[in-house]
Amino acid sequence: MGSPLQKILPRRGDKKRKGYGLKLAAVVLVAAAWATLLFDIPVRFPRIWFSCTAVIIVYCGVLHLLSKRREHAIEFLYAIVILYAGAIHVSGLPWLQLAFFPFIISLTPFYRLQVIIPLSILVPFTELKTLVIARENIVGQAAFSLSLVFTAAAASLIHAMLHREQERAVTELEKIREGARDRTRDTEMESLGSDEIISHYFASKIRADEEIQEILAAIKHAVFADGVHFFEYRGETFSLRNTTEEQEKLIITGRGIMAQVLRERKTFAAGEIDEKTTPVGYIRDRIQSLIVMPVLEGATPVGLLAIDSPRYHAFGDSERKTAEMFSAQIAKILERERVHTVLKQDITALRIIKEFSSGLAASIRYDIVLQKLCDYAQQAFGGEAFFFAYTGLGFEVKYFPGEIVGEQKIDFSGTLIELAIDNKHKEYVSDVRQYGMKIFPPLFRPSVSRSVIVVPLFYEGGLLGVFGMISDQREFLDSRQIGLIEVMCNQTAISIANARMHEEIELMATTDGLTGIFNHRIFQEKLTDELKRSERYSTPLSLLLVDIDYFKKVNDVYGHPAGDLVLKGVAKILKYEVRDVDIAARYGGEEFAVILPGTDSRGAKNFAERLRKAIMTEVFLADGKTLKVTASIGIATAPADAQTKENLIERTDQALYHAKHQGRNQSVNWGVVQ
Ligand code: GH3
Ligand code: MG
Ligand code: MG
Repeated sequence: MGSPLQKILPRRGDKKRKGYGLKLAAVVLVAAAWATLLFDIPVRFPRIWFSCTAVIIVYCGVLHLLSKRREHAIEFLYAIVILYAGAIHVSGLPWLQLAFFPFIISLTPFYRLQVIIPLSILVPFTELKTLVIARENIVGQAAFSLSLVFTAAAASLIHAMLHREQERAVTELEKIREGARDRTRDTEMESLGSDEIISHYFASKIRADEEIQEILAAIKHAVFADGVHFFEYRGETFSLRNTTEEQEKLIITGRGIMAQVLRERKTFAAGEIDEKTTPVGYIRDRIQSLIVMPVLEGATPVGLLAIDSPRYHAFGDSERKTAEMFSAQIAKILERERVHTVLKQDITALRIIKEFSSGLAASIRYDIVLQKLCDYAQQAFGGEAFFFAYTGLGFEVKYFPGEIVGEQKIDFSGTLIELAIDNKHKEYVSDVRQYGMKIFPPLFRPSVSRSVIVVPLFYEGGLLGVFGMISDQREFLDSRQIGLIEVMCNQTAISIANARMHEEIELMATTDGLTGIFNHRIFQEKLTDELKRSERYSTPLSLLLVDIDYFKKVNDVYGHPAGDLVLKGVAKILKYEVRDVDIAARYGGEEFAVILPGTDSRGAKNFAERLRKAIMTEVFLADGKTLKVTASIGIATAPADAQTKENLIERTDQALYHAKHQGRNQSVNWGVVQ
């Protein structure tokens, strides 16, 4: 049985011995064939000799092709050489030896230097008989031998060089592909990530230009071109994006072959270009060989790849295929670049909208909403913002970058603003100089005006105002930005409507519906606040209660609506008579209250008298009839008459009672009564 090692070893030895025998047989057979040349056997017994040599070639050929590492190449090739040498001997034409040169050269792509050189040394030995035995033409044969060895060496070296360049190009392409794969992986990962990761991805610089440049250099090496150029094709025009040569030395015409390739979307390749009869599409030094191929993104041509050389027939099929492979790579880079740009723009747009909306959501004040819209639009798009608010009666200028001469009522007739309002749609003028219509009314003098956008703001069919932007640049907005502004305006319209509703609700909650002055709840709140303040600053505060005399009678004689009218009229007098710091409120029914901060009892008395007289002299019109009323007024002052709110109200009421009691139409200080 033996160990496993023992089992393997004898077998390996067997195999080795078997292989060695076959190899030896090949060498012996080829040596024998060569020896027959020395004895003129091919000439004497041509049939037998050629048959035997052919058998030897087949034997060596089979041995060579079947061996794993293509061994026995020299035996096989030398057998062929011997057959040909035999043919030369038979023909008696020694110049046929010249055919050995192309034979050796043609072998260089397939065999290494280690095979080619020994073979080229062995070739002259087929003429050993002529040389040694007949001693003919020794110098000639020596020269032939040397040049054959030299040719073989040169051809092998050139081929090795070419091969190395090609390998380098393939490695470079592989590197580029690897890079693209890495980026794709990155994108996949980041698409799952947060906003931050995405912005980080977009912040990383895209290297499309560098990558295309690398590819062009790789093509140049791989196909031995003189120049490789990439023309980008955008909406009917070519532009030279990258080239391995100096950009300035290349003139684009875009016609001829370039136009044809683009039309047919097929690669053009030629080895003898006559630029006079067939224009290439670009002009540079001298072009003899040319490959022009479309760079396609799907079926859409996005550019052209041009490879040229001043040599005739410089490029073959394999060069064309290599270039096509690289061209697909360029298309991928361009696609990535395009997707990158679109995504970047979309993300920027989303961010603008998101930031703007969250800013708006926090504000319910009309003025703040407007300010946010204008500030944000200026920040995001540049230019200057304007806003004209519509109140239902007319327009009010909220923002305007420039001067408005005069104070006439704003009239937008015949302007772009009127057009936008009438059409209920945005109007954009990319160049005001080439636009016939006026943008603003004549009295408006904007600081800049080269391009303008006007967006009317509507909410449920009602006009809220007009937003716009002006810039000193031509075409300062692209369609994407215009879209964004429209979205922002729509959101603002909703916010404005909200803000207005909020203001209305607030007004309703704080004022009295009939008279429009503060209601009782606000009176109480304000009195608390003002008392605290007067205490803190040690200043007096006076309170007045105003009660209309015999008001029941007014209602009885003139009717309830007439009574309402009187109440409104008295409230109007109150509003007119009080200072900004004073607070007038409807206390209830036909009673009013006035808080006078910083006013002592004497000041309060003066004010009360002024008020009383104003009410007394006022003539009210009700139902075509005129009527007059009087009022009684009670006055108390803190801290002199009272320290707490309740006490102050009570004492004011007591003073009022006194005024009524003493005959009405008078004002009474609580302090005087006591
Ligand atoms: P005096 O104060 O001089 O003693 O007499 P008076 O007639 O004003 O007396 P009183 O305060 O009792 O009457 C107030 C009346 O005011 C009673 C009520 O019908 C009327 N009144 C209260 N609120 C309103 C209102 O909102 N509109 C109208 N038209 N009348 C009101
Ligand atoms: Mg009353
Ligand atoms: Mg009364």
